[in-house]
Amino acid sequence: MKTNVKALVVGGGAVGTSIAYHLAKAGWEDVMLLERDELTSGSTWHAAGLLPLFNMSFATTHIHKYSVEFYKSLEAETGLNAGFAVVGNLRMAQTQERMDEYMLYASTAETCDVPYQWMTPDEIKAKWPLIRTDDLKGALYHNTDGYINPADVTQAMAKGARQRGVAIERKWQADAFHWNGTHWEVTCVKMVEKGGNLVPSDETIVITAEHVVTASGNHAQTTARKLGIKIPAIPVEHQFIVMDQDPALVEFRAAGNVEHPVVRDADAQSYVREERGGWILGVYEKGAPAVFEYGVPDSFRADLFPLDLERIEEQYMAMIHRIPSCEESGLKDDFNGPICYTPDGNPMVGAAPGLRNMWLAEGFSFGITAAGGTGYYLAQMMVDGEAEIDMASLDPKRYGDWMTTEFAARKNEECYDHVYILHHPDEERPACRPLRCSPAYDRQAARGAQFGFVNGWERPNYYAPMGFNDHDARSFRRGGWWQYAVEEAKAVREGVGLIDATAFTKHVVKGPGATAFLDWFTTNKLPRVGRINLTYALTAHGTTRTEYTIVRMSEDEYYLVSAGAWTAYDADFLRKAVEDKEAEFGRIEVQNVTTQWGVFAIAGPKARAVLAEVIKDAEPETALSNKRFPWLSAKKIELGMCPVNAIRVAYTGELGWELHHPIEMQNYLFDLLEKAGEKHGMKLVGARAQNWLRQEKSYRAFGNELGRDATPVEADLPRFVDLEKDFHGKAEMVAKGVRSKCVTVLIDGPADADPWGREALYDMDGNRIGRLTSGGYSVAFEKSIGMGYVRPAVAEVGTKVQVKMLDKLWPAVIVEDSPYDPKNAAIRIDG
Ligand SMILES: Cc1cc2nc3c(=O)[nH]c(=O)nc-3n(C[C@H](O)[C@H](O)[C@H](O)COP(=O)(O)OP(=O)(O)OC[C@H]3O[C@@H](n4cnc5c(N)ncnc54)[C@H](O)[C@@H]3O)c2cc1C
Repeated sequence: MKTNVKALVVGGGAVGTSIAYHLAKAGWEDVMLLERDELTSGSTWHAAGLLPLFNMSFATTHIHKYSVEFYKSLEAETGLNAGFAVVGNLRMAQTQERMDEYMLYASTAETCDVPYQWMTPDEIKAKWPLIRTDDLKGALYHNTDGYINPADVTQAMAKGARQRGVAIERKWQADAFHWNGTHWEVTCVKMVEKGGNLVPSDETIVITAEHVVTASGNHAQTTARKLGIKIPAIPVEHQFIVMDQDPALVEFRAAGNVEHPVVRDADAQSYVREERGGWILGVYEKGAPAVFEYGVPDSFRADLFPLDLERIEEQYMAMIHRIPSCEESGLKDDFNGPICYTPDGNPMVGAAPGLRNMWLAEGFSFGITAAGGTGYYLAQMMVDGEAEIDMASLDPKRYGDWMTTEFAARKNEECYDHVYILHHPDEERPACRPLRCSPAYDRQAARGAQFGFVNGWERPNYYAPMGFNDHDARSFRRGGWWQYAVEEAKAVREGVGLIDATAFTKHVVKGPGATAFLDWFTTNKLPRVGRINLTYALTAHGTTRTEYTIVRMSEDEYYLVSAGAWTAYDADFLRKAVEDKEAEFGRIEVQNVTTQWGVFAIAGPKARAVLAEVIKDAEPETALSNKRFPWLSAKKIELGMCPVNAIRVAYTGELGWELHHPIEMQNYLFDLLEKAGEKHGMKLVGARAQNWLRQEKSYRAFGNELGRDATPVEADLPRFVDLEKDFHGKAEMVAKGVRSKCVTVLIDGPADADPWGREALYDMDGNRIGRLTSGGYSVAFEKSIGMGYVRPAVAEVGTKVQVKMLDKLWPAVIVEDSPYDPKNAAIRIDG
């Protein structure tokens, strides 16, 4: 057995095996896969093997699409038939809302080149008469996916991996991980049978590996403990049943008809497929419990839990309703196995927090579908440094240290029973909330705030009359909350609004090496003391890793503000970069002060008047004037008794200040501002209105326009990139050129809907030219607005384009950047 390898992959399920295969395929010669038991003995062996292309996320759709294509190629490469039945997938809709969901999905599918078609109930009935269709609105049909044998596809990938030089070692468990500064020393223990259990023996070896990947499935909690990190991947019980033959189905097939597609009755939380003349019914029911929160017992190997029929009775009855001929079929077999989940349903794929050369591929709930694509894109990240798609939505650092076992377990249960709910883009999930609250939470709630969940924080989305039900207000079109967001956006444009931005990520970087470091780390010139700049930290591939507002507090002290959803993700990148560069630049101190500072953004033409009421200054009349407090500067001010680091910026594009204040004084400041704002008609404003307003100013948002698949030049932000200086990722950014360009569009869309930022963009001849990354409503232009990326050749201002919404193309036009107040007159206004 080798003891020195380039990469050690831990876990021989579908995911680990695919990663090993793809690392070898990408050119790494010395790859080893370690499995504590047998290949596929985790969740993989009992999966139903469905490979749905359907997915609401851009990155995951790419991953699933790769898998489906890759699995089709495996037999030619390995000679092993993985049993891929390309029977197609029929997602049925019982309601118009469900059709709306599919229409939103369909536009995303187009941006990823995933083919799909619509089917009417009559078309379904004509093709598959056993399916009851009288209560259906329609269906979305993928004819290129289907189901596969999970064990066989894993064995095929294992054979392909071996052919490419991967060593696969079974009955060895990776037990302890030690980073020696350049390599991982992984202590591995030989596993042996004892009374039916799999237990560690006394035989150990140490494998030295430059890179380690963990794909440990249901063992993720044990892996996390061994690595000293947190991974919110905890399994939930998942059941499917296999039914005896259905004579009607047997007859249907005997007549020469093709196999039924996988039939997804999302409104009945179930999927059905054929199995040897009978049916398999899989369900996502309510009440499925999380399991193995603290590890998998030695006694649980390729095992199952007892069937809980009562829990799935409703879905069983719904199946009989959908396929009445199965009513008489008995139960032949059942599977109740652990299926790994994460709080948001996305797996954790990428660099582990705080560790070097440690990669995670954990928490897969659609692991058979995702294995191929995960292996492909993770191998790109490891071998090339970046994947060709932005993998941030799957990044293991999207949860911070605030995450606990209890949170993960309860959230994962919720995620499981939400698999088939309507995935409204304005959805907010209730479990484990409220958890991270800024002090003003109670006050905001008392004023009607409807909160969104951002990295655990409760952040007001909008304010509505007391008793308003956010759940019932959700829609794929304009939800019941829309009018409140309109009023809030107007208040900012015409009067003044107060926005809670406490969730922002905040770091202090200081010390003798801080200036040289940040100059290298970010793209823009560093600001002078007391000034601020918008700037970008790049990946080694020259794409955007983080957007920062940098405030220079003193010669060698900087305050960095970045997106609230990405605290651990940003902190990890910053800390690792500092560690790498400290020897070169001198001592640098990094403090994550996110939870020490609250932030209120006050914005609107009357913002100065409100602050003037409460500012304590020798000359309060001039304290906020352009002369004493110019745009893009920062000052320590006093509002009543609250010391405030005020920054004159406004993400809404109006006159405004961000008021960074000690978090323990937040309620005092809230009351002070609320009272001062009364006579100026100040309105509390939520994140939804803010999101619309920033699009009128073409302000890019991290995670939407800004991410690891585009450079700041492609984001069309050259004014924040100083090409005169040297910075991390510069050469790579320049070499990329402009592959696509960020634009803002005004849309003459449907009367009752705005885009969500996932829609496909077309030219006037119907050729796809790009996609939206943001969308919403513009109160300034009284129509829908969006931002997105198009091919550079069609990015010119004035170009007429079309946006796919609700299955139709709607006219739109590319407008100049910052269509609202392009000269920034409102922001700069003096007083
Ligand atoms: C009933 C059921 C039906 C399902 N149906 C589908 C479906 O239709 N489609 C779909 O896409 N997904 C389905 N799934 C989910 C799917 O099974 C999983 O997502 C997938 O198998 C996860 O693969 P994995 O490689 O991540 O984990 P696993 O298959 O669990 O593999 C992890 C492996 O790591 C090994 N390991 C752990 N720790 C160590 C260590 N320290 N050292 C060495 N080895 C270690 C384990 O022994 C195990 O073999 C289903 C799940 C269930 C329960």
